[in-house]
Amino acid sequence: MSKAIFWCRNDLRLRDNPGLSYALRHHDEVAVVYIDEADLSSPSASDWWRFEALTDFAEQLDGKLIYRYGNAKELLPLLLDELSADAVYWNRCYEPKAMARDAELKQQLKDSGTTVASFPGNLLVEPWEVLKGDETPYRVFTPFYKAALKQGFAEPYDNVESASLSQLMVAKSELQQVKAKAQRPWMSMLAEHWSISTQSMDQRIDGFLSQAIDGYGELRNVPAVDGCSRLSPYLHFGQVSPREIVARAGAKHLTGSFIRELAWREFSHYVVIHWINNADQIMAWQKGLTGIPMVDAGMRELWQTGYMHNRVRMIVASLLTKHMMVDWREGAKWFMDTLVDADVAQNSLSWQWTAGSGVDAAPYFRIFNPVTQGEKFDPKGDYVRRWVPELAELPDKWIHQPWAAPEEICRLVKFVPGKDYPLPIVDLKSGRERALSVWETIKGAAA
Ligand SMILES: Cc1cc2nc3c(=O)[nH]c(=O)nc-3n(C[C@H](O)[C@H](O)[C@H](O)COP(=O)(O)OP(=O)(O)OC[C@H]3O[C@@H](n4cnc5c(N)ncnc54)[C@H](O)[C@@H]3O)c2cc1C
Repeated sequence: MSKAIFWCRNDLRLRDNPGLSYALRHHDEVAVVYIDEADLSSPSASDWWRFEALTDFAEQLDGKLIYRYGNAKELLPLLLDELSADAVYWNRCYEPKAMARDAELKQQLKDSGTTVASFPGNLLVEPWEVLKGDETPYRVFTPFYKAALKQGFAEPYDNVESASLSQLMVAKSELQQVKAKAQRPWMSMLAEHWSISTQSMDQRIDGFLSQAIDGYGELRNVPAVDGCSRLSPYLHFGQVSPREIVARAGAKHLTGSFIRELAWREFSHYVVIHWINNADQIMAWQKGLTGIPMVDAGMRELWQTGYMHNRVRMIVASLLTKHMMVDWREGAKWFMDTLVDADVAQNSLSWQWTAGSGVDAAPYFRIFNPVTQGEKFDPKGDYVRRWVPELAELPDKWIHQPWAAPEEICRLVKFVPGKDYPLPIVDLKSGRERALSVWETIKGAAA
């Protein structure tokens, strides 16, 4: 008797659910498990929706939804034991932190002998499948949209047949207790405006696709008119997949304005995924091993003394948020841990200023060039030499860009770029262009 867990997340549906369908086809018994990791001390509007959607999903599963509250990395191995299951399946989430966690968990489970497989989640195209000719991601919406259309959106996957619900396992579920605890008086106000069940969602989809979609291009901008689909929360929690919506809309709407907005949803996920937040690069920045001397000098001064000069704080913050395209909160967190003058107000405001996202922020197109900043404010390289001693012998001319030093100079001072000191982890020119183009795109999307 083979038993598996289907770990559901934002895919609270029976239709077009590749992971659940696969589990049911390949195992005798399947436990549908939802692990709630939210901080419910102060529930949000979205938590309210989630609990209602979970309740509806549990009903569709004949009550066989196993809900637990806690940490997925700890609970999944325990549940495998408790349910005597030896396989786990899930549909992919595309939020970078969730992706990193899933990759780690997948390895951990595989190492302990569990079968693990992940399936496409809630997108029309897998983000790594749409790339430019040179294999790099698109930075601008329209070429991305055209390439995705040309490649073709994924078709809906299998639906779960009601007959296979008999294969579902039952176990303790904490859904109703946790839901009751997370109730707040203001939630009844939201409930007056929405009906969260799949049945109501289907009526909304049918109504929109049979009537409003033709006038959508014009009416989507008129707030007083019910000209939009209002499907965003159902899409967010995966009560319906975008694949199903596109299929239901039919070929004649494929290139119309409604599906184009769905493509904006795709592009948002696409940009976030390709929005580096690369753990190795962040670590190189923290350790002062980016290969960019002014940045590394500052980061090493910070680590060793708990202090960094203000000019250098701006340079390292600009590199992280602009060239490296890392969320400013990553940098702010590191500063809060390492600065002796760590101060929530000054630190957060300064990071937002640099990232171009706060009140009175620096304009988004101000991107510090760490080489010219170094040449201007540390012309003799004294600061760099103090904190990056491996560059000490390089002449002043190359101290701020050792990667460009001519071979004969390197030979003379016995310096091997890439060996004695890292090559830059980002190309300053293309990193700057990428940041400018992404910021332009964000401006365009918000308009
Ligand atoms: C500042 C700001 C914050 C936003 N935050 C969110 C958010 O947290 N969650 C969210 O789902 N949408 C967000 N949007 C995008 C958009 O406002 C909503 O998706 C849309 O208003 C939802 O209503 P609808 O389902 O009737 O959309 P429709 O007009 O019917 O569009 C259909 C679907 O296309 C997608 N979509 C539409 N417009 C956009 C857009 N501009 N960008 C990306 N996807 C889009 C949504 O999934 C939407 O459900 C935000 C937009 C702005 C300007």
